[in-house]
Amino acid sequence: MQATSDQAGRGYIMVTGGSRGIGAAICDMAARDGYDVCINYRSDETQAQAVAEQVRSHGRKALVFQADIGNAEQISDLFQAADDNLGTLTALVNNAGTSGFIGRVDAISASDLQEIFSLNVVGSFLCAGEAVRRMSTMHGGQGGSIVNMSSAAARLGAAGRNVHYAASKRALEALTFGLAQEVAGEGIRVNTVSPGVIDTEIHSRERLAQMGPQLPMKRPGTAAEVANTVMWLLSPAASYVSGTNVGVSGAR
Ligand code: NAP
Repeated sequence: MQATSDQAGRGYIMVTGGSRGIGAAICDMAARDGYDVCINYRSDETQAQAVAEQVRSHGRKALVFQADIGNAEQISDLFQAADDNLGTLTALVNNAGTSGFIGRVDAISASDLQEIFSLNVVGSFLCAGEAVRRMSTMHGGQGGSIVNMSSAAARLGAAGRNVHYAASKRALEALTFGLAQEVAGEGIRVNTVSPGVIDTEIHSRERLAQMGPQLPMKRPGTAAEVANTVMWLLSPAASYVSGTNVGVSGAR
C-alpha cells in the first residue's frame, strides 16, 4: 500500500490568503491538527504575523510569505520558500480570492476581468500544479490533499452584482473535478468547498447587516464554520472523498 500524508505525518500546509478571514481560521485549525503552516498574504503583513503567532502557540512552525497569487513568478518563489523552511508539502488550500468589480456584465472592463481571473483561476491552477509536482507519488511525493475555495455564487449566478466572480469560481470547480481524476491514483485528493455568506472583511459591514436577516439561518456563517469543513476534507476521515463540492451555505 502506498504511504499517504495521512499515514506519514502532517508535513506542511500551504494556505493562500491566510492572513485573515477564512484563510486565517484554516491556518489556526491546521496548526491545532498538527500541520506546520505557510501563511501567504498579499498586502497586510501585520495580520499575517498575528496568524503566525497563533500557529506557533499550538507548537507548530509558521512561515509568513508575501506573494501575489495573481503573479506566476511570485507563486513559484512562495512554494520554494515554504519547502526551504517547512519541509514536505502535504496540503494546499487555494483560498486567496477576490470578488473584484461590483456591477453588471455590460459594465465590466477587460482589465477587471483579467484581474479577477488571474487571481481566482490562473493563480489557483498554478498553485495546484506546484502542489501536484511535490505531492504526487508519480513525482516521488508522499500524497496529500487540495481544497479549492469556490462560492455559492457559482451556483446562484450573482446576477446584477458579480457574474464574473461566479464564473471564476465555476472554473475552480471544474479544476477540482478534472484534477481529482488526474491524480486519484497518485495519492492526492482534490475537493471544493463552497461557502455562502460568511462574516469576513470581503463584505462591507453594511452588506452583512442587511443580508444577515434575509439568509435561511438568519445569520451569515463564520470563518470557523468553513474552516471546519476544509479540515475534515483534508483529514483521513475523508479518505474516499475526492472530486466533490461541499457547500457551507446554511441552506442558501
Ligand atoms: P478576505 O477576508 O477578504 O481575505 C482575503 C485573503 O486573501 C487575505 O488574506 C488577503 O491578504 C488575501 N489575498 C487577497 N488578494 C490576494 C492576492 N492577490 N494574493 C495573495 N493573497 C491575496 O476574504 P474571505 O472572505 O476570507 O475569502 C476567502 C475565500 O473564500 C475567497 O476565495 C472568497 O472568494 C471565498 N468566499 C468567501 C465568502 C464570504 O462570504 N466571505 C463566500 C464564498 C466564498 P491581504 O489582506 O494581505 O491582501
